[in-house]
Amino acid sequence: MACTFSSLKYPGRAPEGHILLRAFVGGSLQPELFSDDDRTMEKNVRDELAALLAVTALPQFARVWRHPNSMPQYHVGHDARVKRIELELQKFATLSLAGSAYHGVGIADCVRTGEEAAETIIKGIS
Ligand SMILES: Cc1cc2nc3c(=O)[nH]c(=O)nc-3n(C[C@H](O)[C@H](O)[C@H](O)COP(=O)(O)OP(=O)(O)OC[C@H]3O[C@@H](n4cnc5c(N)ncnc54)[C@H](O)[C@@H]3O)c2cc1C
Repeated sequence: MACTFSSLKYPGRAPEGHILLRAFVGGSLQPELFSDDDRTMEKNVRDELAALLAVTALPQFARVWRHPNSMPQYHVGHDARVKRIELELQKFATLSLAGSAYHGVGIADCVRTGEEAAETIIKGIS
């Protein structure tokens, strides 16, 4: 589904002259790939990286981690549904929602909604 260059995002993730790549496989649109064994998954990723990035050297190491059903899926109408939920929440001054299910799945979105939720609750109790 995607590949990020972790060692470009954050310093110290790979020694000089090397790159740490993180590839994502499966997701809600290709759940069948999730049942591949680690070796097959790694080989498929390496084949795709060879085609996309011309990376043909064998990696110094590769690890597979599985996170089943870990990403919220926003369907058509998500925005309106969240607005309706938030309207209902206004009845409860000290109840707030935060996290990946509402306004974006990125860490920055989760932190922002967490801060906003905390501020709403503080206002509600003060
Ligand atoms: C493989 C993967 C890679 C990702 N990479 C990136 C990235 O590079 N950059 C980026 O910005 N975002 C990335 N994301 C997205 C981001 O990490 C998540 O959207 C974000 O961490 C979700 O935060 P959250 O607080 O909503 O949920 P979570 O981090 O899942 O926190 C929910 C917490 O609630 C706890 N919990 C659940 N149920 C209960 C219960 N009943 N009682 C008590 N506690 C409970 C859980 O144990 C968990 O600690 C990635 C996500 C995945 C899955």
